[in-house]
Amino acid sequence: DEATNEGLRWKYHDPERLKDADWRLSLLSQLDDAIDNGQVWVAYQPQLDLRSHRIRGAEALARWTHPEKGPISPVEFVAAAEQNDRIEKLTMFVLDKAVEAAARINKEHGPFDMAVNLSARMLGDKSLPSRVRAVLDKHGLDPARLTLELTETAALANGADTSPLFGLKDLGVRVSIDDYGTGLSTLDYLKKVPASEIKIDQSFVKSMREHRSDLVMVQSTIALAHSLGRTVVAEGVENREILDMLIAMKCEVAQGFIVGRPSSLNDLAKRLNGERKKRAA
Ligand code: C2E
Ligand code: MG
Ligand code: MG
Ligand code: MG
Repeated sequence: DEATNEGLRWKYHDPERLKDADWRLSLLSQLDDAIDNGQVWVAYQPQLDLRSHRIRGAEALARWTHPEKGPISPVEFVAAAEQNDRIEKLTMFVLDKAVEAAARINKEHGPFDMAVNLSARMLGDKSLPSRVRAVLDKHGLDPARLTLELTETAALANGADTSPLFGLKDLGVRVSIDDYGTGLSTLDYLKKVPASEIKIDQSFVKSMREHRSDLVMVQSTIALAHSLGRTVVAEGVENREILDMLIAMKCEVAQGFIVGRPSSLNDLAKRLNGERKKRAA
């Protein structure tokens, strides 16, 4: 289907274009209007619970379908938006859509966790916890069903104050460390951030059959996370062999193309319906 194909094409963003200051500026100047005009939408990628073998939730991923330029990767426009306050509008837009979707899925299909990416830049906003709370209240979603993903690199590079994370934790939402392993993954950082989940970056997961060092990285991250009482999500799970290895390693959750590509909310709902019917049969 279309959303799935588009999800694929997004992968091929142009790294040269990303360095182009004019391109970044033109993206930035158009982003607010693109959000208002419906060019920006949210795709949902399913997450598989490796113990129950059920879809336990999804990650919300921003998509921009530009009328002339076609699909623009979030790698391009999120990076541009992070350089100033535009990231705020994008974040609140995605959060609102994702929380609305999660509330609907929780009513129609039962327990379902929604993950939303949070730019470290947003942590500077002291009112963030109350803004998140307002979105949860608006759609009637249990805070425990929302996970906010934070990239360790971004948080450290900006020397961001992580104390707002404790405000979020007090709300009852979950915090996840995204792209784990690609940044300065110090134990100190793991201790400082009140995360209940660690997401191992796809660069390690994808190649853990070929490269022993990646396998060791995945194994030791799972062991470390478990000893700290955190759950583990592996991202970039593209085939059955990797999935089976993760199950053997007691990784809790898998996300990746073998489980499902990012899709529209409708396609996700169809899939959940199909699985419920299969279980009932
Ligand atoms: P991320 O949060 O690490 O998201 C995972 C990315 O990996 C997504 O790319 C997803 O489509 C891709 N992916 C998932 N499974 C597989 C797989 O099996 N194989 C491969 N090759 N790729 C897989 P996407 O959607 O292009 O997003 C890229 C990044 O853009 C995200 O990385 C996140 O850092 C950022 N991003 C996306 N949406 C938002 C948003 O709403 N807010 C913020 N702040 N950042 C966002
Ligand atoms: Mg993420
Ligand atoms: Mg990630
Ligand atoms: Mg990533």
